[in-house]
Amino acid sequence: MSDKHYSFFGAVERSFDKAAKYTKWDKGILEQIKECNAVYQIRFPLKRDDGNIEVIEAYRVQHSHHKTPCKGGIRFAAEVNQDEVMALAALMTYKCAIVNVPFGGGKGGIKINPKKYSAYELEKITRRYTAELIKKNFIGPGTDVPAPDYGTGEREMAWILDTYTAMHPGEIDAAGCVTGKPVTQGGVRGRREATGLGVFFGLREVCNMPDVMARLGLNVGVEGKRVVVQGLGNVGYHSAKFFQDAGAKVVGLAEYEGAIWNNDGLDIDAVFNHRKTTGSILNFPGATNFEKNGDALEMDCDILIPAALENVIDGDNAPRVKAKMIGEAANGPLTPEADEEFAKRGVLVVPDMYLNAGGVTVSYFEWLKNLSHVRYGRLEKRFTENLNAHILGQIEELSGKKVKDDEREFIMHGPDEVDLVYSGLEETMINATHEIMNAWKANPEIPDMRTAAYVVAINKVGTSYAELGIFP
Ligand code: NAD
Repeated sequence: MSDKHYSFFGAVERSFDKAAKYTKWDKGILEQIKECNAVYQIRFPLKRDDGNIEVIEAYRVQHSHHKTPCKGGIRFAAEVNQDEVMALAALMTYKCAIVNVPFGGGKGGIKINPKKYSAYELEKITRRYTAELIKKNFIGPGTDVPAPDYGTGEREMAWILDTYTAMHPGEIDAAGCVTGKPVTQGGVRGRREATGLGVFFGLREVCNMPDVMARLGLNVGVEGKRVVVQGLGNVGYHSAKFFQDAGAKVVGLAEYEGAIWNNDGLDIDAVFNHRKTTGSILNFPGATNFEKNGDALEMDCDILIPAALENVIDGDNAPRVKAKMIGEAANGPLTPEADEEFAKRGVLVVPDMYLNAGGVTVSYFEWLKNLSHVRYGRLEKRFTENLNAHILGQIEELSGKKVKDDEREFIMHGPDEVDLVYSGLEETMINATHEIMNAWKANPEIPDMRTAAYVVAINKVGTSYAELGIFP
């Protein structure tokens, strides 16, 4: 399991270098793409509820300014360090490029275990962190736009927005300074589940590729696939739920306190509620307990979805992983040694930097909504419904037949915000999957899908730098 001395940024650089040789860019451009453009280290005091003073360590990294604003989540975790934030920021640059989101990569982190702080303390930390970012121009709708990540959610994003707007009175686009906000505060419908839904769309597309499935010895399609998910947080819960809804069987789930298994499938909401009431995933009716959460990674399944933290599969446990496909919902769950092991064994690793891009894609939609100051669907919904009703009426009149009520409802329906967000995300994930697979097929020397994804990303960022005229 996770080696604390392991450099996550080093691993990202290794993956980058592995892919760079399949691109046309010269050394200088590649170095510029790879480096973190700006690293901001912050320390500030927190007066705790008991009166003690504690120094809080925090970071914001802007990996790339080839497009602005920079974009990337803010993580609250005890393990946060500069190397990790740099790695996550770099992944954001490549992720945005792959899914054609016109942002540079960024990431933030605060080194705290949020479970050990009261809501009031967390609010003070978040607001102070935001104020520090404002001081150095490290936040703003046109400069750097944070979002949720591990340990943060809508509540923290609302605090960030409130702090930013209080300090920028009259700034008309202020709501675009952060995404992942509650819908009442300028958030977009569908953002909460976006990363998990994107994981599902991406993996479903791969499962629908007959040649890939034949290579793995699996049937085409999602239905009946046996899935294991590590981490039942925002990304893990929604990934598991969308797989279950599409007819897959979620046979294993892991949380901090352990793992559970049921060969007949686990009901995600029932497990989620069980954990809410008992405080643990363990002892779920009908399931077998595993005391070590890492055991889930070695369960017998078709698709393994690590959705917790980085470096959970390394050279040590990779040989014991039985899954045929690994969907990296978390950022960096595999070390380069694990990657090599899976490439050797023909296990397909669907890489993080595109698979979990659903969050940033829908964040982009949220940012556009904030800048346009209008809800998606507001202008066209009624028009579309009236038009559809008219077309349907004409068809019924000409054919002399009536369509069934449920069909009528489906055909008439004009798009709501969530419909447009889901369809934009689906389109994005399908296109990205094909673009990466095509790059892989185009060059048989590319060893794995992660390298192919890096090739796609490097080519796009390289083109962007070249066209900026920085490297004439
Ligand atoms: P989260 O805080 O909502 O959930 C993470 C869950 O993992 C928690 O419930 C935690 O208890 C659990 N966990 C931690 N260690 C574990 C272990 N060893 N075994 C099993 N469970 C464990 O965080 P999240 O937003 O779902 O993020 C998860 C991962 O997805 C991170 O790597 C994050 O960078 C990545 N990600 C998140 C988003 C997003 O939109 N939230 C977008 C892209 C990528």
